Amino acid sequence: MPLHGDEDTIAAIATPPGAGGIGIIRISGSGARGIGERIFKPAASRPLVSHRLTYGHITDPDSGKTIDEVMLCLMRAPNSYTREDVVEIQAHAGHITLTTILALAIRFGARLAGPGEFTKRAFLNGRIDLTRAEAVLELMNARTPEGLDLAAGHLQGGLAERIMGIKDALISLRAALEVAIDFPEDEVEVIADLLPGRDIEPRIIAPLKGLISAAHRGNVVRQGVSLAICGRPNVGKSSLLNAVIGRERAIVSDIAGTTRDLIEESFDLKGIPVRITDTAGIRAHLDPVEEIGIRKAKELLGQVEVVILVVDGSLPPDRQDLDFIKENGLSSPLVAINKRDLISEETMDRFRDFFKSHDPIFISARKGEGLDLLADRLFTMITGGEGLWDPGEACVPNLRQLSALEKTLAAVLQVKEALAKEIPPDLVAVDLQGALEALGQISGETTTEEILDRVFADFCLGK
Ligand code: GDP
Repeated sequence: MPLHGDEDTIAAIATPPGAGGIGIIRISGSGARGIGERIFKPAASRPLVSHRLTYGHITDPDSGKTIDEVMLCLMRAPNSYTREDVVEIQAHAGHITLTTILALAIRFGARLAGPGEFTKRAFLNGRIDLTRAEAVLELMNARTPEGLDLAAGHLQGGLAERIMGIKDALISLRAALEVAIDFPEDEVEVIADLLPGRDIEPRIIAPLKGLISAAHRGNVVRQGVSLAICGRPNVGKSSLLNAVIGRERAIVSDIAGTTRDLIEESFDLKGIPVRITDTAGIRAHLDPVEEIGIRKAKELLGQVEVVILVVDGSLPPDRQDLDFIKENGLSSPLVAINKRDLISEETMDRFRDFFKSHDPIFISARKGEGLDLLADRLFTMITGGEGLWDPGEACVPNLRQLSALEKTLAAVLQVKEALAKEIPPDLVAVDLQGALEALGQISGETTTEEILDRVFADFCLGK
């Protein structure tokens, strides 16, 4: 019996579109078993056994026509993904086959599932909390192996456990406050026990701050970072792009100004998905096509998070590059002196001196030298030198969770201040309740329908 009162049975194609070995249709709800029994003819006429694959055929009961040869698995409630009765049909993956089977399921009582509706039911039926539901989404969207690790950690309940610990501490604080409210004569002693510095700091504030900081640093793994390569023509921007992404994507040529449009690629920087854009060369004499490219390049520089300024080391240091940094308001570009294979130690010193406020690095895009240093430097710039997360505890809240953590922290800081000022406990209790409610949004205990809809709307159909 579903706990959320949504009694209808939902169905969807659970595998991605396109050709493949098998495709799966998933049906969930109280009618799932009945629908399965109407449209499936097992090869051996035995009743379906839960959690066992049965071989047979999908047949249209009205026309008697066989649609596909399939394996069917019934998973009786509550031991299923949604905690409802679930039927999964493994069919051949052709689009027509799958949609025909889905249409049959709908004809016999199911309705088409919305995005993420299976996972939403798992949440509403109490099988997973909201952090785990979001981890499912994260798992599907992970772009790097590190992103996958993060999601897997959340799916196993890493974040849920940490939140639970903070919640327990808030609840003991509330219990103590209630004692103070109920027995005002002992108030002074109880409040003295609650004073900041005792439990609030290590058990609540520090863990909240830890999670917030991890969220800020670690979210780059989920969201990625945008980076632009800029510099004058022929300094080796396209060569650097090719070297970094390891493919001949940009056109490398000796003729100045060949990269007229913006080229975008992505690569994995120690777990951070980086979108990298090579910009059109900035030249003194411009033809009209290049002018458009340069305008686009300038716009882009204002939007990206990291800028690499490539400088040709085989030419003398040029003020144009410093002017470029200033004109575009680049606060901390990574200055990469390229063509290191052509330059001497003294020249390097000259460049170090010339770009001294930018601590330049020396690379050879053509020979692939200095690229590790470049990657290290980028990584440090992006993570602020602290790394993505503490080793062994990949526990990085997403943006929705981050905003709830920040609200919780703000309320807890008010509680702390109120206690220090000896404000009456019933007033402190209000802030504390606010903290508990904000924290509850993470696990889904106090989440509004609107937030839920937003979370599940990002899922794909069939999940
Ligand atoms: P862009 O106009 O800035 O994109 O420059 P390109 O990548 O097209 O390179 C311009 C020229 O410099 C090409 O002939 C490259 O082969 C050459 N080049 C690029 N990087 C290096 C390098 O590290 N060393 C040397 N010697 N030549 C390079």
